Order: sequence, then C-alpha cells, then structure tokens
Amino acid sequence: MFSATFMSIRSGSEGYEELPKKIPIDRCLIIGAGISGLVAGRKLQDQGIDITVIDKGRGVGGRASTRIINGARFDHGAQSFTADDPRFRELVEGFADLGAARVWYEGWPDEKDSEIKNRRVHYYGTNGMNHIPKSLAAGLDVITGEKVTEICFEKNLWKIVTSAGGNFKAPALIMTPPMPQTLQLLSQCEFKLDPDTNRQLSKISYDRCIAAMYIMDRQSKIPMPGGLVPDSSLVKWISDSYTKGITDEPCGVVAHSTAKFAQERWDSDDERIASILLAEIRDFLGYEPLGYRIHRWRYSQPNRTFPQRYFLFNGGSPLLFAGDGFGRGSCSIEAAALSGMEAAERLVEIHA
Ligand SMILES: Cc1cc2nc3c(=O)[nH]c(=O)nc-3n(C[C@H](O)[C@H](O)[C@H](O)COP(=O)(O)OP(=O)(O)OC[C@H]3O[C@@H](n4cnc5c(N)ncnc54)[C@H](O)[C@@H]3O)c2cc1C
Repeated sequence: MFSATFMSIRSGSEGYEELPKKIPIDRCLIIGAGISGLVAGRKLQDQGIDITVIDKGRGVGGRASTRIINGARFDHGAQSFTADDPRFRELVEGFADLGAARVWYEGWPDEKDSEIKNRRVHYYGTNGMNHIPKSLAAGLDVITGEKVTEICFEKNLWKIVTSAGGNFKAPALIMTPPMPQTLQLLSQCEFKLDPDTNRQLSKISYDRCIAAMYIMDRQSKIPMPGGLVPDSSLVKWISDSYTKGITDEPCGVVAHSTAKFAQERWDSDDERIASILLAEIRDFLGYEPLGYRIHRWRYSQPNRTFPQRYFLFNGGSPLLFAGDGFGRGSCSIEAAALSGMEAAERLVEIHA
C-alpha cells in the first residue's frame, strides 16, 4: 500500500527536480479516453508498451464530443482546435489525410470586431469533433462505460477497479480526467497523495459552461464559417452544424454560455436556461427552434493550469497526471494532446 514516504517529482516541459531510476515498464493503464489519454496511449503503444485506456463515458472523446439528435450532429463540447505545435500539427495533418479533420477557419469570427484578430488556423472533426478521438482510438485497447472507482498500489503495481467489477494492474498509471475529478476520485481510494502534491494539483481549476442545442430544420442566419462570438454577456459562442459542415441537412445551432451565466444558472431548470439563451441569440436563428437539449459541463475549460505539461509522481512505479489542466496558458485540445504526448514520452524515458 502507498506510504507517505513516496517521492513526488514535479516535472514537465521545464525540467525535472529529480530523475527516477530506470525501471521496466511493459504495461500502462490510462484513465480517461479524452484527447490527452488517447494521444498518450498511441505514443506508448508505438513504443511497444501495452496499454489499456478506461473511460466512464459511453464512447471515447471526453469533451471533444458530438451529440446525435434526430440523426443530426451537434458539437456540444469543443468546437475547433489549433495545431500550432509542429508535433501536434503532424498528427492533425495525418487526420486530415484520412479525412477525419478539416480546416474550418483562420482567425477568429467575432461579431464585435470584423477585423480578423489572428491568423491561427482552426480545424474541426469532419463528422463532428468526436471524429478526432475516434480516429485516435483506432487500434488501441479502450474500454468505455466503466468508471474507475478504486486505485491502490501493491507490490510495485497500480491496481484499478471499475464500476463494472473490472480489475486491471500495471507498473505505470496515467490519470487524465480534469484534475478536480481526479482528486475527488483519489480522495475516495485506498491510495492517497501526499498533502504537498495534493495542494499543488488542487490549484488547477475549471470554468463551468452550459451548452444549449437548438433543433431546427432550416439553416440559421449565422454566416460562414458557421460559428461566431456574439456580442453578449451570457453567450460566448454559437455555431450552426450545417454551415460548419459536420452534418448533411440543416439541424440546428449550439450556444455555449459564459462561465458567469453557467455559475449563476447551474441549478435552473433546462426550460428556463434554454429560453434565456434563446432570447440572447434569436436574431441569429431567424425563426423559432423546434426543440432543445441542455448539457451542463461542470469542467469545461481550465481557468487556472499547472505550469508544466504533466506531473510525475514517482514512488518506484510511476503515476503521471496529464490533461488540458497542464501547461502554461493551456485550455484546449492542443494542450491536452501535448500533455498526453509529453507524459508518454517521459514514461518511455523512465522505462529501462
Ligand atoms: C463547452 C466546451 C467548449 C470547448 N471549446 C473548445 C474549443 O473550441 N477549442 C479547444 O481547443 N478546446 C475547447 N474545449 C476544451 C477541450 O474540449 C478540452 O481541452 C479537451 O478536450 C480536454 O481533453 P482531456 O483529455 O484533457 O480531458 P477530457 O476530454 O475531459 O477527458 C477526460 C476523460 O476522463 C474520463 N473520466 C473521468 N473520470 C473518470 C473515471 N473515474 N473513470 C473513468 N473515466 C473517467 C471522462 O469521461 C473523460 O472522457 C472546450 C470544452 C468545452 C466543454
């Protein structure tokens, strides 16, 4: 069992406090099949390390998710992504070659400012954002629909138990859920982090966001490229799935609330939320929607991150924390991918 004598090593892109000794790592468990967990899984598998990725969701992708309503697609989580880093760009260009990713726009479509603020290229998943994690997961051992409920450390192995009664063990573990969820899980487990590590990681925090999906059978008035930042204190983003190009027939619009609105209205009923946000964006819709769905994101994007790309907790058998909460100024798909990539690279380095 874990003892408080475990060393915690802060590490990442800015260097290491202390290098752990080389140990044989033939297998790694990864909690979370979002972008960071899947990128880490791919990287490790490519290096000959066996992996199993476990996710509580029905499918892969985490916040890079696409909801199907009446047969039509809505990206109700991440909308687009950048690939500024050449390592991630190479991966994204591979997806583009396979038809899974496309360039959506350059710059930022902002209602308040018609001048394009920056020329960064933004991509999207061709059949919705979920196309990206689905492509990443191909050929990996991924188990979905199983929530990790217990983690313990015995005889130099990490052991995981899931809600479905699954038991897994390996000499290495990577945890990628949003850090508050990870810490919540660990607080209920036999394995405990030392107070200093716990304190540092608990600084990572997230904004909430409420996504409203308005179902429509006609195209909205949102101009090309199909998404924009409205001049509103309640809604921070709207996009039309058809104009964006992820669905063949007009089907509707997604509106993302601001963090402030989500905080204030979290417990309001769906109908109330849908009607307040609709009043804010009605001009862009052009006519009344046929219906709506509401999705609450308790952890949407980090508002405070850990400065390095991952955190290595080493007690002889490594435990790494990764995800979009890691990396200076990160809060995106690209940051999540780089975090997963660098955490995996670090594990390969430790591997004898
Ligand atoms: C509304 C919204 C809009 C966004 N817009 C953009 C955007 O336009 N551009 C952009 O780049 N980024 C955007 N993001 C952020 C982007 O989606 C994330 O940065 C990225 O997807 C995070 O990936 P991740 O792997 O770090 O975490 P996640 O995708 O959250 O993956 C973590 C996974 O862990 C799983 N998990 C959690 N607990 C357990 C458990 N106990 N057992 C098993 N599995 C567990 C979860 O089910 C989840 O699949 C947006 C996010 C939201 C919510």
